Amino acid sequence: MSANHALELRDVKRHYHQGARTLAVLDDANLAIEPGEMVALVAPSGAGKSTLLHLAGLLEQPDGGDVFVGGTACGRLSDDERTAIRRNQIGFVYQFHHLLPEFSALENIMIPQLVRGLTEAEATERATQLLDYMKIGHRADHRPPELSGGEQQRVAIARAVANAPLLLLADEPTGNLDPQTAGYVFDALEALVQQSGLSALIVTHNYDLAARMDRRVTIAEGKIKPA
Ligand code: ADP
Repeated sequence: MSANHALELRDVKRHYHQGARTLAVLDDANLAIEPGEMVALVAPSGAGKSTLLHLAGLLEQPDGGDVFVGGTACGRLSDDERTAIRRNQIGFVYQFHHLLPEFSALENIMIPQLVRGLTEAEATERATQLLDYMKIGHRADHRPPELSGGEQQRVAIARAVANAPLLLLADEPTGNLDPQTAGYVFDALEALVQQSGLSALIVTHNYDLAARMDRRVTIAEGKIKPA
């Protein structure tokens, strides 16, 4: 029943050729994430976490099986259709924020909405609301270099969900932060997920944060397994 899942990987294969050897990073791997569910991806370096995020984010194609986003099978879509799903249904957060330094926090969150065709008034309203959810409404007019690391990551999370995606994919979103700040940023992310019904797949090496998510998965022998 893929229609009920924000994300589903069904029998996904991803094989890399390394000289004469084939490395089966994912080999009939399966994963389904429900609306509103936060799933931690916890696995050692080289296990395939980036590969999994790239496949889920439609940045790479599987060698077999298919990836469903909001119930849509993405394998046979055109590049343009995949790009549209990536833009409208999926939000990305990275370890480093990648905010535009010359724009304010508010503007950084408005830009993806303006690109999508919303009016300036609509984008301002949504960006203001998201900054409030992330508890940094008072920093709206500041540019990223004037913000702390934790504040920058809150803006990056708000920007990732600016166009109300179904799915948030995050690669160690608090990896650069001290443990206390990481906890606060995660509190804000959790509140946002609860308010919006967003689903999230979050790579983390922080066991305290992983423990707070609904479920933990890992990658072993090409499969996605409970961690
Ligand atoms: P992680 O993010 O968990 O560190 P990756 O998904 O980056 O793991 O990589 C999984 C495995 O696949 C590693 O052994 C890596 O060397 C290999 N790998 C990743 N990308 C490629 C590629 N483009 N070509 C060959 N091997 C790759």
